[in-house]
Order: sequence, then C-alpha cells, then structure tokens
Amino acid sequence: MDHTVDVLIIGFGKAGKTLAPYLAKQGLSVIVVEQSSQMYGGTCINVGCIPTKALAHQSHLIAQYGLGNTEARQERYAQAILEKDELVTMLRGKNLKMVNEQSGVTVITGKASFLTDHIVEIKTQDGTILVEASRILINTGAKPIIPDIPGIQNSKVYTSTELLNLGKLPERMAIIGGGYIGLEFASIYAGFGTEVTILEQGATFLPREDQDIASEVRTVLEQKGIRIELQSHVVQIEDIEKNEVQLDLSSPDGLKEWRGNAVLVATGRAANTDGLNIEAAGIQLTARGFIQVDDKLQTNKQHVWALGDVNGGPQFTYISLDDYRIIKDHWFGTGLRTTSDRKTVPTSVFIDPPLSRVGLSETEALQQGYDIRVVKLPVTASTRARQLKQTDGLLKAIVDSKTEQLLGFTMFGAESSEVVNIVSVFMNSSQPYTVLRDTIFTHPSMSEMLNDLLNLV
Ligand SMILES: Cc1cc2nc3c(=O)[nH]c(=O)nc-3n(C[C@H](O)[C@H](O)[C@H](O)COP(=O)(O)OP(=O)(O)OC[C@H]3O[C@@H](n4cnc5c(N)ncnc54)[C@H](O)[C@@H]3O)c2cc1C
Repeated sequence: MDHTVDVLIIGFGKAGKTLAPYLAKQGLSVIVVEQSSQMYGGTCINVGCIPTKALAHQSHLIAQYGLGNTEARQERYAQAILEKDELVTMLRGKNLKMVNEQSGVTVITGKASFLTDHIVEIKTQDGTILVEASRILINTGAKPIIPDIPGIQNSKVYTSTELLNLGKLPERMAIIGGGYIGLEFASIYAGFGTEVTILEQGATFLPREDQDIASEVRTVLEQKGIRIELQSHVVQIEDIEKNEVQLDLSSPDGLKEWRGNAVLVATGRAANTDGLNIEAAGIQLTARGFIQVDDKLQTNKQHVWALGDVNGGPQFTYISLDDYRIIKDHWFGTGLRTTSDRKTVPTSVFIDPPLSRVGLSETEALQQGYDIRVVKLPVTASTRARQLKQTDGLLKAIVDSKTEQLLGFTMFGAESSEVVNIVSVFMNSSQPYTVLRDTIFTHPSMSEMLNDLLNLV
C-alpha cells in the first residue's frame, strides 16, 4: 500500500475541495485525486460557471455597445476567449495552492478506480498508486450526454467543454437542446454576432417556467436574432464542405435542414462514474446511473459518501457546496443537516438578461392546491433598468392568499441573479410578503423593484 489515509476524496469538485482543507485542519490525513492537471478546481472553475459567465459578460458588453464588422467581432471574440483562459488558469492555480500547499492535503493527479470498497488504485503519468482509506468521498461530477445521432462524431460538433476552446467565432451555429446550458451558449454567441439556431425536441419552450415567462424570454431571445425550433429532432449530421456541416431534421412543420459552421450538443449531463469501477466497491447506483445516496449523502456503504453532481442532486456548484456543509455537520456537528433542509434553492440562467427563480411557479403553486395571488411588473418600470439600458423582462411573485407567505418569485431582467438571492433569504425567514414589501432598499437599484412588485398584491 502506497498511502493509508483517513479520508480519500475522488475528484476536485466544489464539495471536496472545500472539505479537504477543513478535514486536514481537524487533524485528519487527506488525499484528493484529480484525473487531469487541467481540472484542479473542478468543472465550475475550468469548463463550467466561470468561463461561461466570463464570456457571457463580454458578449453582453459587445451586444450592448455595438458589434462592428465581421473582423472586429472576430477580434473581440478571440480576445474574450484569451481573457477567459487567463482567468481560468489563474483560478486553477489558486485552487491547487489552496488545497495542496496551504492546507497539508496531498493532491495526486491521476485517475481513481476502486479495487475494493476501501482500496483505490490511482493511475498517474508515472505509474500506479494504491491508497487505502477509512472514509471515501466521491466527487467526480457529471459529463455531457452525447445523443446517438448518426454522424455526431464530427469535428464541427462540440460539447460545451470543447466549444470553450473554439478560438474562431462561427458565423452560424446550431445548438441541440434548449435547456439551461444550451440557452446560455445561444445568448453568448448571439451577443458576439453568430447566427444561432436552437433545436429543441420538446414541444414547449422552457417547460418548467410559466407560459408568460417562457414567452417573454423567447421574444427577447428572438429579438436578439436567436431562432428557436421546437419539436425538432436531429436525425443525421454530415460534412458538406471543409467549414460547413449539415443537420437533417425531423420536425412536424419546422426546419428540415440546417447548415452552418458549428454545432453544440447540450442535451444534458450524466453522472461521471467513468472508469471508477464502482462495482468493485459494491456501491449502488440509481436507475439513471447516479450514485445512490440518502439525505446525508451516504451511499449503501457506511464509509462512502457521494457529493456534487454525481449523486443526482440539482447540478449547481452551490448545491455541491451545500453537500460539503452536510458532511461537515454529519462528521463534526449536530448530524442533523440533510438535503431536505434546502427550503429554497434559487436558480439563474445566465442569458442576457438573466432568468432567475426561487420557489414555486404559478403553475406549480396551483398544482399543489394553493389559493394564490399573482403579481407582475415589467422591468421597464425600473429607473435603474433605464439607466442601464436593459429594460427587457419582467418580475412575477406568487403569494399564498391564506398565510401571506411568498411562495415563489421569478425575475427575467438585469441583475436578477442578485435580486433572487435577496428573495431566497427572505423566503427562508418565513415572514409575510408585507415585510419584504416594506423593506428599505437603496435607490436606484434593481432590488427596489421588490417594493413595487409586492405593492401590487
Ligand atoms: C457549461 C456549464 C456551465 C455551468 N454554469 C453553472 C453556473 O453558472 N452556476 C452553477 O452553479 N453551476 C453551473 N454549472 C454546473 C456546475 O459546474 C456543476 O454543478 C459543479 O461544478 C459540480 O461540481 P462537483 O462538485 O459535482 O464536481 P466537479 O466540479 O464536476 O468536479 C469533478 C472532478 O472530478 C474529476 N474526476 C472525475 N472522475 C475522476 C476519477 N475517476 N479520478 C479522479 N478524478 C476524477 C473531474 O476531472 C473533475 O475535475 C455549469 C456547468 C456547465 C457544464
């Protein structure tokens, strides 16, 4: 045995990297294994939240302040990719330092694979390392799902990770999948001036949102030149020229064929258990292939936990961070904290402007039998939005008529990813909506719209 440790963390994910220094501080010996030297810090830092939002910001600025000619757009895009790379490289180094040098945790770069439920083999560049651990945390994240479409193995077809390295701005891009990741990339590339078409196989755009919200989002995206094709199935992908690819589509009354320079596959993300040899540890998976955990993230093996995307919870960095809190509490605290404590989980889709929600939609509230009052306000009502020249969108609140509690809040508009956190904190406090309505906010600000919105109840 090369190492015998108290805790082995497989994958440099958000939960694991936050937990590792904490565990070391408690006097435990800890090893973190990361399969790629390009992934210290995990998905969010390297190929997820950070690079996409860096590009989204640049794309927003360019869309707002004018595009220029093709050459200028190409240049600005290439510059944005470069700056994104610099940011990611800096953060990756910082993350490695934080875990490795500053906390006494050993980081091993290599691919981990179970031999037994306590012994893991790590294949590194220089050979194989065997680690025996008393406790094991699996934090290996998720990977893009590649649909089984003939011709999909094409050099112009990209996953989100691959697209982030595309140095040349494509003139025309198709995005397969109208989910959050697909919409964010659509918004980014449309902002830079690419002609974007979203191909979504479902019949409804943004099916989890209320129709009025989805329709407003669709209108704004279409105004930015994004074409949205519903009930559109890609049946074949083929090269037609050196720089062009063709998609054959099956659709009741939409596009039958699309031609362009780049295709993004954004059809969801599955558990990343590749090569983990999970069977050797006897760890159970769910029907969808995620690692089965209870509400304290424990697997069927008492000494193994699964954190972050790989356990099938909502795929967000801040959920992985909350998984860290559960383990911390479970091992060193009250032991009471569970996934069921997540009363409110705000979400933001970083299109331009962002779409954010916390709590129930109107449809969900009605389905759950609530007697509700619904209020809406267009973003044009905000002086701040007018100053920012970002007047697209609307706000919507759902209030329980009986208890006066705020059941849900949706905002499609500038800075909604900040405003939604205020509402989330408020909803956790279980106070009547009138408290938020009468809260003093700074002026001018987007959050002061909450006063006006709730005044309408
Ligand atoms: C394009 C995109 C945009 C996103 N935007 C957002 C956003 O704006 N906000 C947000 O909250 N979330 C966003 N997400 C989701 C977010 O990135 C993930 O939910 C989060 O990073 C999950 O972290 P994790 O803890 O599960 O592990 P990850 O950060 O995924 O880390 C897992 C690590 O394990 C390593 N690994 C895997 N298998 C092995 C093995 N066998 N041995 C060793 N190492 C291994 C991987 O290389 C990886 O580094 C986005 C995701 C994508 C793809």
